Amino acid sequence: MKILAIESSCDETAAAVIEDGRKILSNIIDSQVETHALYGGVVPEIASRRHMEAVVRVTECALEQAGMQADEVDAVAATCAPGLIGAVLVGANFGKSLAFSLGKPFIPVHHIRGHIAANYLEFPDLKPPFLTLVASGGHSLIVLVRDYTDFEILGGTRDDAAGEAFDKVARVLGVGYPGGPKIDKMAVGGDPNAYKLPVSHVKDAPMDFSFSGLKTAVINLAHNAEQKGETIDKSGLAASFCRAVVDTLVPRLAHAIDETGVKDVVCAGGVAANSWLRQALTDMAKSKRVQLYLPPLSLCGDNAAMIGAQAYYEFLAGHLGTTAQNAFATAEISEEVCRKIR
Ligand code: ATP
Ligand code: MG
Ligand code: FE
Repeated sequence: MKILAIESSCDETAAAVIEDGRKILSNIIDSQVETHALYGGVVPEIASRRHMEAVVRVTECALEQAGMQADEVDAVAATCAPGLIGAVLVGANFGKSLAFSLGKPFIPVHHIRGHIAANYLEFPDLKPPFLTLVASGGHSLIVLVRDYTDFEILGGTRDDAAGEAFDKVARVLGVGYPGGPKIDKMAVGGDPNAYKLPVSHVKDAPMDFSFSGLKTAVINLAHNAEQKGETIDKSGLAASFCRAVVDTLVPRLAHAIDETGVKDVVCAGGVAANSWLRQALTDMAKSKRVQLYLPPLSLCGDNAAMIGAQAYYEFLAGHLGTTAQNAFATAEISEEVCRKIR
């Protein structure tokens, strides 16, 4: 089964053709990052308008790369939640209209389910049940994937997402948007003990965590240094920050492994590209004797291939959209986007 998938939930307009949820026939990403970098972050209305301009061209490219005509696909899928609502609406409405005009099924996909499904494209043998650490721009969760469309949230952030913390710290250090990759690079060779930064603990919730205290600590540190005219060891601060993020996330995931006894562990989302997190997860997996799956760097950030992968399993579960399918700014990973009303 060949699915044409569309993704437009943030600042990437993307389209892909995926076979049976596992094989990439094409994968096109048009990033708006240079536009938003001018403003230090994503400007929602600009993002929506850029998606509108790009979505047809990107879709045509994906079909061409797959060597297919639109009417040769078996279904059309699109991210319908969560995300910047104006941005999601563009891809969701385009995908829905295309599906019904072709007389094909329309498959609405949850963006974070998609991030997890990116791993199916890299690891043919990966099957639920498995544990997932989701660390992206807007989400940080520990999820038990019981089945392809059955998710249980075990824990998560009480405030900021990991990626959000990276982006804010990057802004404070003056390295601009998007911050994650820049902080990662800046931390190379830095001393992770250069600055003592807080690691959160949520009382009576061993799989929950928080990034706001860490973020505030870095902001205060930078401001104090500025006022006193002291120079910051930027590389040391970036390394200390990466270590604090890792020390927040990895022990919570280790706790989830102990609690559930699940031996397959997956990481997903943009922050899964972080070199400190990848190393720490690799070390933890070795010491706990669990099998770790890390998505390739090319599939960590937003893309449509991951949406096409998840769409296949949503299709098998009968989760189809009607002509009245809507898009949503928020949705729990456990919610069926095709049944969501408000
Ligand atoms: P969500 O998926 O939660 O809706 P999003 O789609 O904006 O949010 P992603 O595309 O999954 O988020 O990931 C983008 C985030 O990942 C950004 O916050 C970015 O800074 C972060 N990121 C990307 N690469 C790295 C890296 N190497 N180290 C740390 N963070 C990174
Ligand atoms: Mg993005
Ligand atoms: Fe994302």
